[in-house]
Amino acid sequence: MNEEAEVLRQRGEAVVHLGIGEPKNRAPISAILNSAAKLTTGNIKYSPTDGIPSLKKAIVRYTEENYDKLVAPENIIVTSGAKQAIYNILFSLLNPQDEVIILAPYWVSYPEIVRMVYGTPVFVAPEDGGLHPRMEDVARAVSPSTKAIIVNSPNNPSGLVFREDFIKEIVEFCENRQIYLIMDDIYHKLVFDGKKAASCYNFTSRDIDASRIITVNGVSKLYGMTGFRIGWTVAPRRLVTIMTNIQAQTTSCASVILQAAAEGALTGLQSIVENLRVTIENNRNIIMRELNSFKGVKTTRPDGTFYCYPDFRAFEPDSVKLSEFLLKKALVVTVPGKEFGMEGYLRLSFAGSVSDLIEGVARIRWALDSSSPNEIYIGDKKMVRDWL
Ligand code: PMP
Repeated sequence: MNEEAEVLRQRGEAVVHLGIGEPKNRAPISAILNSAAKLTTGNIKYSPTDGIPSLKKAIVRYTEENYDKLVAPENIIVTSGAKQAIYNILFSLLNPQDEVIILAPYWVSYPEIVRMVYGTPVFVAPEDGGLHPRMEDVARAVSPSTKAIIVNSPNNPSGLVFREDFIKEIVEFCENRQIYLIMDDIYHKLVFDGKKAASCYNFTSRDIDASRIITVNGVSKLYGMTGFRIGWTVAPRRLVTIMTNIQAQTTSCASVILQAAAEGALTGLQSIVENLRVTIENNRNIIMRELNSFKGVKTTRPDGTFYCYPDFRAFEPDSVKLSEFLLKKALVVTVPGKEFGMEGYLRLSFAGSVSDLIEGVARIRWALDSSSPNEIYIGDKKMVRDWL
């Protein structure tokens, strides 16, 4: 869809992109200065495989401040993005055919990574037809081959922040059943309406080295630093040691220049995260207002991230077909819900500009809703709807 959109854009068409997976902000100045300072030393060498000690120290502090949990540097490994963290975790944990429970709707990469390391993804969708996972559905999917469960809250694509009682239940379940709980917390500070994402560590009394909890974080989303490619994992040391051995034979370490940037972001002014959060919350309010005035679309208000996941089944049950139709007729890029394991939905990103959000939803309404005016301007072209 992205490639098709790019071809259209190069032809001069007025494409609106509601598929974006990154905020528009500039990188924090503290990240830029710290990486530039490292670069100008000219001393650009390997770092320890698990990360620069000063960055790990910043991550210890980050974990204490945001999770109320004190961990040791030996519980931390820095990787080239959260994506590599998840890959290294699953590569370390899984034997062929081991099962990993993935809660639908899910981030597209989880099943692919599980399959790449010869594991078997087991999908669990809420049986009540909603978007919030339910412990009884998860428990029913567990088998003797279940090695891990992946939880992503705030959630890509639904934008939901999972309820504290669910996090408590799943933490206790995994600790009791000796199943690894991988918490992909990459969006955990991008939460709205004064809410806070629960800290998984609040619900276990186990020492981190005896615990089954693994948390994944990074600078991509909170600081809008997707291109810097720095993520990290907090886990029992035994797992960190195995992940370090794997990293030693794959990438050696994340780039020292980029690690310096991440350290700059974590130790610099944190108002940047809050500013980004407020901007995104405002965008959330705008896209929800636009979608709610659009009859037939069922919305669930996102509590976090920069995605919403409206249900378009009243118009078209096949999300791939719908997404292609919207790109062709209305020049709007959306992501089909099918990719996230739930058909009939579209993922719309509100990380872009306010004008794109308003224009994007107006065009979707024009393309699908016969009660909307049948003429619209797309760029400087007047378009007439002749298909409803
Ligand atoms: N987890 C989720 C849920 C994501 O949405 C993303 C980015 N799209 C990642 C992990 C990967 O983040 P990173 O850029 O740090 O690899």
